[in-house]
Amino acid sequence: MTKKKVKGKIQYHLDKTECEALFKAEADAKTNTYPIPESGYAVALMTKKGNVYTGVSYLSDTDTLTMHSEATALAHAAIHGEKDVVAITGPNCHICKQLIYENSLRSGIDIVIVVKQEDKVLQIPISEMMMYPWPEKPRSTDTKKKQKMEKVKF
Ligand SMILES: [Zn+2]
Repeated sequence: MTKKKVKGKIQYHLDKTECEALFKAEADAKTNTYPIPESGYAVALMTKKGNVYTGVSYLSDTDTLTMHSEATALAHAAIHGEKDVVAITGPNCHICKQLIYENSLRSGIDIVIVVKQEDKVLQIPISEMMMYPWPEKPRSTDTKKKQKMEKVKF
């Protein structure tokens, strides 16, 4: 992968082998969609360290609690202490685009969506998919500020 700065944002461009590794990992993960294999969705993401993490859709009978494969992939990487995601396979639904966008706001990396279009592989930055993005900045995760806010409540 190569790192570059585009419009003031850090962006990584994957080589052909890395893109193929993501597509293969995604296809392999599809056998683990929950609860029925091959019945849902799967994605694969790559972190700054070059590690690949997959995610599968996880169905809930409530529907509301169903987790999309992008959410489980981002959590999968986070569980391994990896927060710097550089690329994820797509296309993704708009809920997941929001989640990917929020991750990119926190890391400062303009995550690329790796998509197969006919015989081409495209790498589209998430920022280009967010027409009127919200929020402008990630919500503060500053513990001291949080504690201060909690004191005000009581
Ligand atoms: Zn989704």
